[in-house]
Amino acid sequence: MNILYHSTRNNDKKITASQAVLQGLAEDGGLFVPERLPALDVSLDALKEMDYQGVAYEVMKLFLTDYTEEELKYCISHAYDKKFDTEEIAPLVYADGVYYLELFHGSTIAFKDMALSILPYLMTTAARKNGCGEEIVILTATSGDTGKAALAGFADVPGTRIVVFYPKHGVSAVQEKQMVTQRGGNVRVIGITGNFDDAQTGVKQMFNDAALKAELKEHGFVFSSANSINIGRLVPQVVYYVYAYVTLLKNGKVSAGEPINVCVPTGNFGNILAAYFAKHLGVPIAKLICASNTNKVLFDFFKTGTYDKLHALDEQSGAFSAERKFMLTGSPSMDILISSNLERLIYLVGGCDDAKDKALMQELKEKGAYTITEEMKAKLADFVGGYADEARTAEKIRTLYEDTGYIIDPHTAVAAAVQEDYGKASGDRTVTVVASTASPYKFARTVLSAIDPVYAGKEDFDLIDILNEKSGVEIPQAIEDIRSAKVLHDIVCETEEMPAQVKAFLGIYTS
Ligand SMILES: *Cc1c(COP(=O)(O)O)cnc(C)c1O
Repeated sequence: MNILYHSTRNNDKKITASQAVLQGLAEDGGLFVPERLPALDVSLDALKEMDYQGVAYEVMKLFLTDYTEEELKYCISHAYDKKFDTEEIAPLVYADGVYYLELFHGSTIAFKDMALSILPYLMTTAARKNGCGEEIVILTATSGDTGKAALAGFADVPGTRIVVFYPKHGVSAVQEKQMVTQRGGNVRVIGITGNFDDAQTGVKQMFNDAALKAELKEHGFVFSSANSINIGRLVPQVVYYVYAYVTLLKNGKVSAGEPINVCVPTGNFGNILAAYFAKHLGVPIAKLICASNTNKVLFDFFKTGTYDKLHALDEQSGAFSAERKFMLTGSPSMDILISSNLERLIYLVGGCDDAKDKALMQELKEKGAYTITEEMKAKLADFVGGYADEARTAEKIRTLYEDTGYIIDPHTAVAAAVQEDYGKASGDRTVTVVASTASPYKFARTVLSAIDPVYAGKEDFDLIDILNEKSGVEIPQAIEDIRSAKVLHDIVCETEEMPAQVKAFLGIYTS
């Protein structure tokens, strides 16, 4: 069945999936959504006999309906190959009562690889299908992990260039080193003096800047996005929730039809939205547990129905009385106050009312907050919001290590702590999958300091060796690669200078 896409802010202007992948963000600032959410057309029993690539095809064909079978299978087989250090691509590891879905076995050791290893294939295929004559310029804002995964995916891909903006003082040492050492003739990495929200807003503004886009077109360029606002990011992420469920089924950990809970460490709301789409496909998912760090804007939203990026909920009084500050935490990829993908959920629970969605997003832009109706809130009953502060997160890393020997990264630990607290408070004993979104090697300092403060003063690469001894997990190639790599990118700019930096990179000079 053919599925078209349109903006969350305009139901009328429909385009194909491949056009949505090419465009990234809608012209009106909205996000592309499928005109209806598809359902699986093969049984979970049949899926459980397939490998990751097989499941990927069965899921992605439902969303990307204008790609041919041959095209999709080509994209899948080239993305999910030896770049991953494990044949299962996304293994499930049982520890202390929950299943950790390890999504970090790709080349940059964070879950972003799950989608960004296939996006370049989806995009170049889309360009071919649509006779796109321009060179595609991928603009990316990153809170740390997307940047490297996108760089690795697009480096030296013919017909593309990529510019990554990251918060200069808002990423881990390993994250920064991974990005600024990126090689490739078509890549540029730029630090900005602001935070991730500034980077993301700057990128979105460029997408919506008609004059800039016209100027680019004149020079043979067109923008696209590698952020999770691109449906080409979202759709590949649905796959691993289906794969996780059928793996549990295959191994007899759940019986046919038995529901599971899914707990996701959340920032831009892309990963958990993919789980929501998986539920709509027909995967028996009961609760979607949305875990935040100290930047708990989503927790406040699920609790009250109000999304307020400027004020934080005071749980005692129930009022948004305190100033909400952007906090830098040990889980930097979740340091986000404007969760872009929430707009897709708002649109869906609002009854696919584009005018309503547009009005709420306008309120967010103008007043910094919006409140959804009771009717919309009722449709969010499957979501549970939770958060873990820095101390709780560190405690979870330590106790899990002491109890089981298993070491998780700080993002995963936020989710693990939220899941544990939710289980205790609710008595919910449903089998739970926690999305494990990064290798602990990417955040060795935070992880080891949580286990024992004596490690806090050590050098970064000493910490890598200590982590290796403690975890018994082989040091990933991504870490070995940066030990000696040269820094190739050192530009730092103000948020306002972002368009000028992009033009300079493309060799466009205006008087
Ligand atoms: C990006 C990221 C997240 C947040 O995912 P969203 O899809 O933005 O909600 C969580 N953990 C890690 C390690 C990440 O890189």
